[in-house]
Amino acid sequence: MTQRAQAATGTGGLPDHLRRPVRGMRDWLPPQFYALRRMEELLSRVAESFGYRRVETPVVEHFEVLARRAGREIVGEIYYFKDRAGRELGLRFDMTVPIARAISYNLTIPRPVRWYYFSRVYRYDEPQHGRYREFHQFGVELVGSSSPRADAEVLGVLAESLRAVGVPDFVVRINDRKMVDKMLESMGVREYREAIYRALDKKHKLPREDVVKIMTSSGVEPSKAEAIYDAAVEMPLQEAVESIIKRAGAELYNFYCKLLKYLDSASGLDKFVFDMSIVRGLDYYTGMVFEVFAGNYKLAIGGGGRYDSLLELYSGISMPALGFALGVERLMEALGVQGIEKPPDYYIYIFDDGAYSLAAAIARRMRASGSDVVIELGDKTLREALEYALRLGVRYMVIIGRRELERGVVRVKDLGKREEVERPVTEFLGKEA
Ligand code: AMP
Repeated sequence: MTQRAQAATGTGGLPDHLRRPVRGMRDWLPPQFYALRRMEELLSRVAESFGYRRVETPVVEHFEVLARRAGREIVGEIYYFKDRAGRELGLRFDMTVPIARAISYNLTIPRPVRWYYFSRVYRYDEPQHGRYREFHQFGVELVGSSSPRADAEVLGVLAESLRAVGVPDFVVRINDRKMVDKMLESMGVREYREAIYRALDKKHKLPREDVVKIMTSSGVEPSKAEAIYDAAVEMPLQEAVESIIKRAGAELYNFYCKLLKYLDSASGLDKFVFDMSIVRGLDYYTGMVFEVFAGNYKLAIGGGGRYDSLLELYSGISMPALGFALGVERLMEALGVQGIEKPPDYYIYIFDDGAYSLAAAIARRMRASGSDVVIELGDKTLREALEYALRLGVRYMVIIGRRELERGVVRVKDLGKREEVERPVTEFLGKEA
């Protein structure tokens, strides 16, 4: 085996499974990382343009803080461990819970709080396409307002974020837990809420009889389970407000009438539909809940809703709130985002160690004016260096040989056009020369 082939396959060393990232996690090699960072820049810009400020919290949280509001589905997915002092800890599974904790610890922050994040979160989920154990979420939290304008604003930021990264065909499916609960109450099945929520959540994924069975096997009468299934309809938001939501009482009806008006002015209504099967797995939601889908991509690319009692639970102070989170990996998959190559601009090659100080001075100037510059380490011949620079995608090779050094010039090779010109050293050194 040649040295290069051996280097590529890496015979010897760690076994293959230890070179792979841990199950459910991934490496972000530079092209993928730059693509991720591009998403971060575009999404952050949208949040900031609405007045939201970026926040970050520790990846590690008190297990108790996480477990309290996770809900049955998520609690089992929390990465849990004890540190050496015996503290029970966990990795954050979203950013809403840590942010709620952080606000409850910093109560002098003026409210409403408008914060956004682009952060890694962890869930011990069964890894598959679109489902990872470490992934990124971008989202906003608007804490301290119960006004429907807050709901319209958050939905507006969501729509604008999706437009900014180029998802034209998204749909936000909205439901309201209060409304569903009212309906369950009127049917006398409120005590089966958890099973009914679980069943509704599966409406788009399982056949009718299976969804009905989730309810009946928990004790819901078959005729009522069928009625709930039929009631879980999907329709334009305006229509839902005038029918289902109106029947749920004046308070909800008034709220949604206003929300519709604000949302229409803020971002238009065409991307929003009402869908009673959207209930969401997280326990902390109290009112409006929604999920976001993009084109033909099967999994939800985002979700969110109102969590009016979470902050009170942590701080003892009433602070209605809402937010959304987009799953960045899923968003990138739905968009078919490719990696972004970002090679250095210049590669300086010198034949003689005596030219190193000149190479370093040139590199310093170029870097100061914004270029990315690599200096050959002295291990490669010019041919090897050229091949390497081409593989990296470097645009220009600056070659300083003994003869050039004596004449005060350098050779600049355009590796794209395969042209070479001579330039005076002073051109690169400017005032420093
Ligand atoms: P949630 O915090 O459950 O509301 O999730 C918000 C969004 O995060 C979802 O709509 C997904 O896009 C994304 N998401 C949730 N779980 C995962 C996962 N295991 N892997 C990748 N993305 C996920």
